[in-house]
Amino acid sequence: MLQRRFEKVVLNNYPDALDARDTSIKYLGLLQNNHDIDIAKMLMATSLCSDDINIPSTSFFNVVLGPFFLGGLGGLPYSGITGLTAFAHHIPDNGTAFIFYGPHIGVTLENEVGKMYRPRQENAGACCGALMLALERLKDDTYSPEIKTIDYQQSYLESVLFPRREEIVNDKSPQRKITECAFELIDEMLHEYLRVVKSEFKVDKIGLLGGIVINTDFGIDDYFSVRNFEIIRTRYL
Ligand SMILES: [Zn+2]
Repeated sequence: MLQRRFEKVVLNNYPDALDARDTSIKYLGLLQNNHDIDIAKMLMATSLCSDDINIPSTSFFNVVLGPFFLGGLGGLPYSGITGLTAFAHHIPDNGTAFIFYGPHIGVTLENEVGKMYRPRQENAGACCGALMLALERLKDDTYSPEIKTIDYQQSYLESVLFPRREEIVNDKSPQRKITECAFELIDEMLHEYLRVVKSEFKVDKIGLLGGIVINTDFGIDDYFSVRNFEIIRTRYL
């Protein structure tokens, strides 16, 4: 079966990855049973890449309200503290905030990472396109990042990855490494923004689930490799 063949490739690269269904069952279960959170009053925000292939990824959690889109190219939370504040104001009374975040990476049955076959396309293409483009540019010794208004998200993404250029391009899998670096950036930015706007959240708990979304072929479940699962008590932020 195709799903099984994909699972082999996914686990080869991300041994702890779970498919979409198992991810949602596991983490919604933990929120509900271990953290006493009423899922019916939980509003989700996402910080995922704009890529259309990520739309099914948000259906991991299609039983919850939302999502409020915080993210842009590469998954960085470009909507900033204004976006996070708006999200905070939209949460149901006596409800909970939940943020699902991270970069994404495609895989193919030929065991390629950073690529995928998109719906009705003959050839595999880059995935995440933004991160793989950034990687190409980081490999060029003459490249130096410059933030451009007409290409704000991509140029910003490249500028924040630039300080980690050496470790990325010299890694045995630069595609996986740049994706991990993107995760760390998204995670840091979200925690920083949450500290700045904590008083806007009139809730006790903010659930965070962050990691790497692994895209397979269209119609086959995506996978998720968790890097952070955390319940923030807003009073301790
Ligand atoms: Zn992308």
